[in-house]
Amino acid sequence: MIRPLITGFKTTFLHLFKKPVSVRYPDQKVPVFPKYRGKQVLMRDEDGLEKCVACGLCAVACPADAIYLEAAENDGTVMAGPRYAKVYQIHKTRCIFCGYCEEACPVSAIFMGKDYELAVYNKADFVWDKTDLLVPLEGAKTPPVA
Ligand code: SF4
Ligand code: SF4
Repeated sequence: MIRPLITGFKTTFLHLFKKPVSVRYPDQKVPVFPKYRGKQVLMRDEDGLEKCVACGLCAVACPADAIYLEAAENDGTVMAGPRYAKVYQIHKTRCIFCGYCEEACPVSAIFMGKDYELAVYNKADFVWDKTDLLVPLEGAKTPPVA
């Protein structure tokens, strides 16, 4: 009876002097592995225009049927090509973060990002649209890195 107690106290005492392995999340974040696949990012070209040409290959390649897009004719203000994705949605509850959409894209318009804070409070927020996915203008040239 006494022996296990002593062993327990000894173990606790020894851990008092060890470096903690936990972090104070969310103030302190743990860097993700370089190959980590998080929330997707839709890229812009060097002029800040959208790179997506609405070809739909990512939606075809998606094994979870998580991508929905609607193409529209472009007037030159949204992206450089003749068509752009008027609607581009990824359904978060379907996505398995396999990265096939990134591999299928012929113009490198979509990348798997590093964002892992994906919890939401509202059912409607389970769908990412262009507002959520499109990279801000200031980050236009930079693909997501770890
Ligand atoms: S990561 Fe995979 S499952 Fe998610 S949208 Fe891309 S292809 Fe579909
Ligand atoms: S993200 Fe790439 S593959 Fe998907 S519709 Fe746009 S251009 Fe095509």
